[in-house]
Amino acid sequence: MAVLSVVLPAYNEEQNIANTAQVLSALLEKQGIAYELVFISDGSTDQTYAEIRKAAAANPHIKGAQFSRNFGKEAGIFAGLELTTGDAVVVMDCDLQHPPETILAMWEKWNAGAEVVEGIKSDRGKESLGYKLSAGLFYKIMSRLIKMDMSASSDFKLLDRKVVDVLLSLPERNTFFRALTFWAGFRTETVEYEVRERQFGKSKWSLWSLIKYAIANATSFSTLPLQLVTVFGVISIFGSIILFIQTLVRYFMGNSVEGFTTVILLILIIGGFIMLSLGIIGHYIARVYEEVKGRPKYIISQVTDNVAGNVTGSWKR
Ligand code: UDP
Ligand code: MG
Repeated sequence: MAVLSVVLPAYNEEQNIANTAQVLSALLEKQGIAYELVFISDGSTDQTYAEIRKAAAANPHIKGAQFSRNFGKEAGIFAGLELTTGDAVVVMDCDLQHPPETILAMWEKWNAGAEVVEGIKSDRGKESLGYKLSAGLFYKIMSRLIKMDMSASSDFKLLDRKVVDVLLSLPERNTFFRALTFWAGFRTETVEYEVRERQFGKSKWSLWSLIKYAIANATSFSTLPLQLVTVFGVISIFGSIILFIQTLVRYFMGNSVEGFTTVILLILIIGGFIMLSLGIIGHYIARVYEEVKGRPKYIISQVTDNVAGNVTGSWKR
């Protein structure tokens, strides 16, 4: 019998764990689906991991792990994938903003042969206008950069074991789960869902963390910003040809002393371009540096007793 694994990254979600575990297990048991729930506490500083252990002790289908510190949701997702044993894996938020019933629709599509089932937001729920606009802009740019339509995609998706194994075998450290499933390909189907409101606690994303997330993801999937540097160069060369001719003409006409304003402007513009370009290149070098160091995406400090096999860098408790 096929087993469905559900990966739930959780960062300071102590109020959500017990409820989510209960809702999901009741739903899947009612449908007669063999399942396991994998909670990853992303270095939570509250009782999240204690709650996970409690849930795991009460229900053998539930297991989990705690990170040694906060590594971010991407790391949480990948650690969750590593701990799963099911034939199909659903990744979802543990605050139940992704409606649990949608899992059943995904499971059906998987049974019918789909290898990736993308959850597509039918609306963005109750988000502020500013957030909607910036998220919309981000996905426009991202879709352009990676040449795939991501406008309504989310981290809520079902993956076949094959796809999970492909993702786990990627050596890269800076992953962007949402786009990697598009990149991986496979037989993809979609399921629409409506984003619910968060029941307990509050969103873990600040504006700053979203901006960092956007830049990191855009650069991890595209080298277009690097090519921008070339564009800057071409623009400056054109500008300099024009000014070169103008300067020579002035020189031969004998009035070359003026043009101090031009000099200041040129220094400012070119200086700006050079610094911006260096910044862009520097950002990519930083990414290369991070990849080359080859540090793990996450460090697991504890796993629940029912986690079988060797989990790198983990200590049972
Ligand atoms: N999350 C995580 N690590 C983090 C931030 C968030 O594992 O550093 C988890 C969080 O517990 C939740 C999911 O990622 O299960 C989505 O986060 P949140 O609900 O705060 O984001 P939003 O729904 O507002 O986009
Ligand atoms: Mg949420």
